[in-house]
Order: sequence, then structure tokens, then C-alpha cells
Amino acid sequence: MQQFAHWIDGKAREASTRRWLEVFDPATGKRFAQVAEGSAEDVEDAVAAAAHAFPAWSSLANSGRARWLERLADALEARLDDFAHAESRDGGKPFALARDVEIPRAVANLRFFAHAATQFASESHHGEAGLNYTLRQPLGVVATISPWNLPLYLFTWKIAPALAAGNTVVAKPSEVTPMTATMLVELAAQIGMPDGVLNVVHGLGPGVGEALVAHPRVKAVSFTGSTAVGRRIAGIAAPMLKKVSLELGGKNPTLVFADSDWRGQLDTIVRSAFQNSGQICLCGSRILVERAIYIEFRDALVERALALPVGDPMDPDARMGPLVSQAHFDKVVAGIARAREEGGRVLCGDNALERPGWFVAPTVIEGLGPDCATNREEIFGPVATLQPFDDDSQALALANACEYGLAASIWTRDLNRAHRLAAGIQAGIVWINCWLMRDLRTPFGGMGQSGLGREGGFEAMRFFTEPRNVGLSL
Ligand code: NAD
Repeated sequence: MQQFAHWIDGKAREASTRRWLEVFDPATGKRFAQVAEGSAEDVEDAVAAAAHAFPAWSSLANSGRARWLERLADALEARLDDFAHAESRDGGKPFALARDVEIPRAVANLRFFAHAATQFASESHHGEAGLNYTLRQPLGVVATISPWNLPLYLFTWKIAPALAAGNTVVAKPSEVTPMTATMLVELAAQIGMPDGVLNVVHGLGPGVGEALVAHPRVKAVSFTGSTAVGRRIAGIAAPMLKKVSLELGGKNPTLVFADSDWRGQLDTIVRSAFQNSGQICLCGSRILVERAIYIEFRDALVERALALPVGDPMDPDARMGPLVSQAHFDKVVAGIARAREEGGRVLCGDNALERPGWFVAPTVIEGLGPDCATNREEIFGPVATLQPFDDDSQALALANACEYGLAASIWTRDLNRAHRLAAGIQAGIVWINCWLMRDLRTPFGGMGQSGLGREGGFEAMRFFTEPRNVGLSL
């Protein structure tokens, strides 16, 4: 059976506990591998290795660090199919989605931050208060903690800016999907990246994750995951006055107006609800529809949802695979049952597929208002609700009737309305007539219960550096 060990100081390492956790194939529900169940002792070793590697790595020229990231991107690109296969195996996502979108996006993350390393520069201010310039220095050892839904994409989204800015990293991938992160650190070693620059420790959140967050030599923590865990991490880091970046859950609204080209864009709207089985923090799970087109839109959406091919992730025709784990499957199924108890009408879906694995069909629910738990709490599965609205102000009120504030999409031909709403919606990211269109330079993240801080472009480079202002009188 395949085993995913830690990667510390350039070498594979078993957990000091000698224990392994099971890794499952979501498409069959069967165990296919094991991952090291790390401990605080392993974290200690990884942090020591990263601290030892820091002086040399941070002293490299920016262009030198950029070259390492480029070489890692090249090596990943050369093995794209293997990585896509792995991502599909432990996460259950359609192979085609991993091969055509997610692994290429991971390559792009590495390349983007390689360029950022050479473009990120200190600012200077010249004026009445003399000449001031701001140094941006790496922090030292930093921790990254990532979830299972976009395993390699989010892993690289964090390690790339951290390394580009001159830090060394101890990364903890999700114990549910440890495969591609392990393969990537092996690649880093194969291309000769210096030992200790990028370390991976595996294991459970409360054991390894918390030990990492609480380690006094870890200067910053970049976390993506659930709001509950984000709060816990903030609670540990705050008294230590440690920098944290928290990218958390979402319950994103999709606002569909009668004047929009919704028929032409229905594919994208459906994708925004169900891509990766709804397990993307940016998925639009609350679809708000102008009453004039409500019935027509609802019926068309349900028709498309019913036609979505759900099946084996290796089947090239499958657009949706299974949910990631038994625990998550149970949570999503319970979420649908709660929607029924709250009085919701389930228009399609609501069924596990008659096959092994953790498959749930795309589910659309109507008849629930903004106060129901179904419309307030994240389900993170292929479940979307529909709510009608009468005018712009009601649309805005419904969009904002939620404590999360990650993303929103607005579908209308009236651009004045679109810009007005974009300014009023409580979300870190708003798309107009599109979804998941990403420019890596833009600030990425949420407000409210969706998180703290922003990633992306220079926001990430700033997070992973300490500014020091130097002033002199002229
Ligand atoms: P999770 O919070 O359970 O776990 C995320 C990571 O944190 C894992 O590596 C886990 O092992 C670790 N962890 C768990 N408990 C910990 C603790 N006490 N201390 C330190 N680390 C701990 O989240 P998940 O179930 O893996 O991912 C799904 C969640 O992630 C959803 O809520 C989703 O919305 C969110 N998400 C957010 C974004 C974003 O950019 N805002 C992106 C993707 C996913």
C-alpha cells in the first residue's frame, strides 16, 4: 500500500508516532494509501530544518529564488497527467478538471510568484518628511495549512509567495488529500531545491496543525479551511501576536436579473453551483432570481442539473465526481435533510447514487427564506437554493443576509445596477456576468465569517514580509 511520509530537510520521514492514517478513494469508498500521523515532535524537526535553511534561502538574489520556482513549475508541468491522476484519486475530482484546470493553475501559481519575486519592490516616499524607503524583509519560518478541496492549487497558492518572498516553509496539507503535496516536495528535492526550504508535515489538525500554529519560531500562519478552525487558529495566534491570514468558508449569492443573458450563461451559472461537487469556497450556493423569470429560470436550472453527468472521476464524460469523504458525505446529506425539515422543496437531487463511493446528485432546493439554516450555513456540496426577489434593494438585502462574505456573482445587462450592487454586496470578490475569473494580481479573500486578510499578488508578498521604514532628512 502506498504511504505518504513527511518531508523534512529534503528527506522522506516516517512520523515519530510510527502511526499512519488511512487515505480513501472517494469514488469507491475504499482505502488505498496511508499518510503519516505526525506529532508536535515532527513539527519541531521540520521547523528546525526550515530555520536552518532560512539564512541561505533568504540571502539568495530574488532572481535566484524565482528560478527555483520556475524550475519547480517546469517539473510539475512535465508530470501534469500524473498529478492530475493523483488529485483525482484522493480527492475524487473529475480527472479532466484536474488535468485541464487545477494542476495547470498550480503551475501558474508557481510561475506567477516566481515573477512576483523579481517585481516586488520597496516603496519610497519623498517629501516634507525627507526621504523614506520601506524595506520588505522575509519573516523567517512560516506555516501554511491547506484544505482538501483544491489540494495542490491551494498548497501552491501559499508556498509560492512565501518562498518567493524569501521565507522557508513548513506546510501541512489536508490529511484527507495528502497525495499531490507529497509528490510536489519530492519533485522539489529531485530538481535540487535546497534541503529544509520546503518541508511537509502530515497529520491531524489538532495534533500537527495546532503544534505548528503555536510554535514560537513560526512567524506567520497562512490558513485556508473552515471558519471553525480559522477561529481556533486565530485564538492560538492572537496572544502570541503572530501574523495570520485566514481564508474561510462561504455561502455565496448568485444574483440573476431578468435582463441578463441567463439562458446563454446558464452553463456557467450551473458550473458556479456544482463544479467540483460544490466543494469550492467560491461556489454560488444561494441563487437569487428576479421574480419575473423565476419559474422559467428554475425549470431550466433543474433541467441542466438533472443532465449533469455524475460518475467515476476517470470517466472523461463525468462533469461531477463524488464528495471527498464519508464524513463530508454525511454532512451534506444531513444538510439536505435539514432543508426538508425547514420546509424546503427539493426539486432535484437529494439522492446518493446507486454505486460505491460518496456520490450525491446535484440538488436544487426552493421555498426557504433567508433566515433558515440552509441559507445561512455552509453545506459545501452540490446543493444550491433558489430565492425570488422583486427589486434591486431586495436582491441586495438577500445577498447580504448571511454572516459569510467571500464571493458573489451578478448577472445583468444593466451595468449601472451591476456596479451599484457590486459596491454594496458584503463580499471580498464580486464577479459581473462571469464566475471564477481569476487575475492572480488581485486581492483574494473574504470578509465577515469568510476570513481575515487577503492573498494574491503583492497582498501575499506583503503578508509574508515585514515592512521596515527607513527615513532620512534631506
Ligand atoms: P478544515 O478547516 O477542516 O481543515 C483545513 C486544514 O486545517 C486541514 O489541513 C486540517 O488538517 C487543518 N486543521 C484542522 N483543525 C486544525 C486545528 N485545530 N489547528 C490547525 N489546523 C487544523 O477544512 P476542510 O474541511 O479541509 O476544507 C473545507 C473548508 O475550507 C470549507 O469551509 C471551505 O469553504 C474552506 N475553503 C475556503 C477557501 C477560501 O479561499 N476562503 C478555499 C477553499 C476552502
